[in-house]
Amino acid sequence: MPAELIDGVAIARQIRDEVACDVQRLAQRGIVPGLTVVLVGDDPASAVYVRSKGKATDEAGMHSVTIRLPADTMQATLLAQVDALNADPLVHGILVQMPLPKQIDADAIVRRIRPDKDVDGFHPVNVGKNLIGERDGFVPCTPAGVQELLVRSGVETRGAECVVVGRSNIVGKPMMALMLQNAAGANATVTVCHSATRDLAAHTRRADILIVAAGRPRMVTGEMIRPGAVVIDVGINRVADASARSGYRLVGDVDFESAREVASLITPVPGGVGPMTIALLLRNTVRAAERLA
Ligand code: NAD
Repeated sequence: MPAELIDGVAIARQIRDEVACDVQRLAQRGIVPGLTVVLVGDDPASAVYVRSKGKATDEAGMHSVTIRLPADTMQATLLAQVDALNADPLVHGILVQMPLPKQIDADAIVRRIRPDKDVDGFHPVNVGKNLIGERDGFVPCTPAGVQELLVRSGVETRGAECVVVGRSNIVGKPMMALMLQNAAGANATVTVCHSATRDLAAHTRRADILIVAAGRPRMVTGEMIRPGAVVIDVGINRVADASARSGYRLVGDVDFESAREVASLITPVPGGVGPMTIALLLRNTVRAAERLA
C-alpha cells in the first residue's frame, strides 16, 4: 500500500491559526509582534521568499516591515542597520535574508543580531541553547517545522532510529540536536550522514524516521528506505521540465514515486516541509514579542 501523505499545507495552516490567536491575545495587552526582514540585493529567489514572509506576517495580524538595501551595500552599513533594529522596541524579530552579497561577512551579521530577536535561530547563543536543550532560545524554522510535522502526524519519536542526511547549520545539525533531546517529540537515536559518509544506503535503511536535507534532487530512492519508515523530504530543487509552463518543476531530495511504495508516511514536495518554515517563523516572532514584553 502506498504511503500516506503528510499534509504540510494543512499542518502549517493549523500553526498559523494558533499564531493568529496568540497575536490577538497579545493585542489585548497592547503588543503587536513585529518582524523586520532585511533583503540586500536583488536575488530573485530571495525576493520571492521575502514577499511570502511579509504576506504571512501581515495575515497573522503582525507588524511586518521589509527593508531593501542595494546589492553594493557595505558591511558597516548593514551592521548599523542591524544595530538600529536591535534597539527598536517595535521590532521583536529580525531576519537578514541569506545569501548576502560577497562583500559582506554573513557570520558577522548573524552574530550582531540580538539573540532574543534572532527568530531565524542562527546566532551562536541560540545554536548552543538548542544543543543543550534550553527552551528559551530560538530553534531554526525548518528543523522546528519538521519536528512539528512528526508530532502532529502522531509519529513515535522516542527510541526511534532517526537518520538525518545533511549536516548544514540551517537544517541538518539543528535537526540532529532537536531529535536527540530527552524531550517530547524527540528522544530518538540519531545518526547524521553527510557527503563523506561511506555507504549512505546502509544508514538510511536502518531509519524508522528518515529526514533528508542534502540538496540533491531525488537522491534517496525507494530501495534505500526501510519498509514502513516515515520519510521527511526537506529538499527543494528545480529540475528542467519541458511540459511545465515555467520550464521547470520542483522536486525533493527523495525520489517520491519509488519512496512512496515503501514508506508508511511521506512528505510531498512541494506541500510538505516548505510551508512549515514560514509558519514556524511566525511562531518564533510571537514568542520573541512575548519574551521581550
Ligand atoms: P547544504 O547544501 O548547505 O547542505 C547539504 C548537506 O547535504 C551537506 O551537509 C552535505 O554534506 C550533505 N550531502 C550532500 N551530498 C550528499 C550525499 N551524496 N550523501 C550524503 N550527504 C550529502 O543544504 P541545506 O541548506 O541544508 O539544504 C538542503 C536542502 O533543503 C536543499 O534542497 C534546500 O533547498 C532545502 N531547504 C528547504 C527548506 C524548506 O523550507 N523546505 C529550507 C532550507 C533548505
